[in-house]
Amino acid sequence: MSTENATGPAGTTPQRLVVLAGPTAVGKGTVASDVRRRYPQVWLSVSATTRAPRPGEVDGVHYLFTSEADFDALVEQGQMLEWAVVHGRHRYGTPRRPVEEALAAGTPVLLEIDLQGARQVKAAMPQAHFVFLAPPSWEELTRRLVGRGTEGAEERERRLATARVELAAEPEFDTTIVNHDVAEAADELVSCMGLGPLSARSQHSR
Ligand code: 5GP
Repeated sequence: MSTENATGPAGTTPQRLVVLAGPTAVGKGTVASDVRRRYPQVWLSVSATTRAPRPGEVDGVHYLFTSEADFDALVEQGQMLEWAVVHGRHRYGTPRRPVEEALAAGTPVLLEIDLQGARQVKAAMPQAHFVFLAPPSWEELTRRLVGRGTEGAEERERRLATARVELAAEPEFDTTIVNHDVAEAADELVSCMGLGPLSARSQHSR
């Protein structure tokens, strides 16, 4: 378990709030799910979205599936820490209060959001740690997007166009993790919070 005084992998203070962003299909959701499974002490923010559930997605677990009107209300009432239209279509946002409550309770928090959202969180909470999940290569990213098979050709092109822009934002982030392997990427991610085997190893070696 991390403490406020523990040092992270790069000799930095572990952050309670870690923001994970990166291009479409790089595997952010898979890495976040792996963190949820193996590091239950990390609280994963559940985003609100106006898009429809995919098969197997559960309301309140994967997303809070929200009507346009309800999303409007959340934004108007100032209840969103950040929100964005992603891939030019649906709205996604992070409900503010659960994040603030978890942080106040000292719980490590992970947000898995898009680049626009990450920039908003950086403006609001610059002390957070911003992690960019990168693909091993552009070819691999394209292969993963096609392989997932959840989007049609038009949507895929739209997402690839977004991904090109998103890849250029890497220098804005504190840390880059290359997603060669889901479990390794998850371990690297939680090490930013002072958790996991990589963190323990680096702390012992100091
Ligand atoms: P998908 O529709 O495939 O679940 O997600 C599409 C994109 O929305 C992903 O890039 C994901 O990171 C992003 N996303 C999910 N939740 C949020 C959120 O709360 N805020 C923002 N800004 N983006 C989000």
